[in-house]
Amino acid sequence: MLEYQARKDLLTDKTILVTGAGDGIGRAAALAFAEHGATVILLGKTVKKLEAVYDQIIAQGSPTPAIVPLDLKGATEQNYFDMAETIAEQFGKLDGLLHNASQLGALGPFEHIDLASLEDIMKVNVTAQAIMTKALLPVMRKADNASIIFTSSSVGRKGRAYWGPYAFSKFATEGMMQVLAHEFEGTSVRVNTINPGATRTEMRAKAYPAEDPQTLKTAEQIMPTYLFLMGDDSIETNGQALSAQ
Ligand code: NDP
Repeated sequence: MLEYQARKDLLTDKTILVTGAGDGIGRAAALAFAEHGATVILLGKTVKKLEAVYDQIIAQGSPTPAIVPLDLKGATEQNYFDMAETIAEQFGKLDGLLHNASQLGALGPFEHIDLASLEDIMKVNVTAQAIMTKALLPVMRKADNASIIFTSSSVGRKGRAYWGPYAFSKFATEGMMQVLAHEFEGTSVRVNTINPGATRTEMRAKAYPAEDPQTLKTAEQIMPTYLFLMGDDSIETNGQALSAQ
């Protein structure tokens, strides 16, 4: 998908929510969507990082974004419904939802899995995404064509030793996408996953501390797949597990 070339105005008049928009791939996606005309809603944990992305979007001359500070670990169902109501009031519709934020947790042998961190990872990587999606569906149905993208991983498509809860959570992500995509067949809402592949971010550095980051693609380089799935060129694409590299 690296060869897809998005038109400059691909996302004009679209409103797109990106989770984990303050850093890494989410940050690059927020900037790319804004650059292609979208009004971006930046959701994340660290407000300072979101503000820096906000400033960069304004500086590049893109539509004014919005900031939603939210820690998916502590968020309640009510938080998501309140957010959906605000989006409906302010924008009238939501055209895109990129579930990007996730937690890696500790890697190691299965027998070392700790219950509290297993529950945290499932909450951030799976439960939060399910409840957020549920809350946002009514406002997404107001868009002519809406796209939901979940972020998977190679270890969400084939299990790998020592990847523990992160891997289970990514398999659950693929499952959630398939359930939703089947339910929404023939409707205005399409649902797909992207496996970014090895990408130069903090999470990757944490998982592979001995690796030279310079050998990896940057988050900016993998944006074609994200743009393709967010824009109307992918209207016929539903229920697919794509790879960005
Ligand atoms: P980073 O760790 O660089 O960025 C993750 C982002 O998610 C940060 O902005 C972080 O916010 C946010 N986030 C994490 N936890 C929470 C939370 N509890 N509530 C709200 N926001 C949160 O990760 P990447 O950019 O590398 O990864 C993005 C996605 O791509 C993830 O889903 C990851 O699993 C997936 N992926 C990445 C690969 C890679 O090689 N990089 C490979 C395969 C999949 P803050 O900075 O404030 O903590």
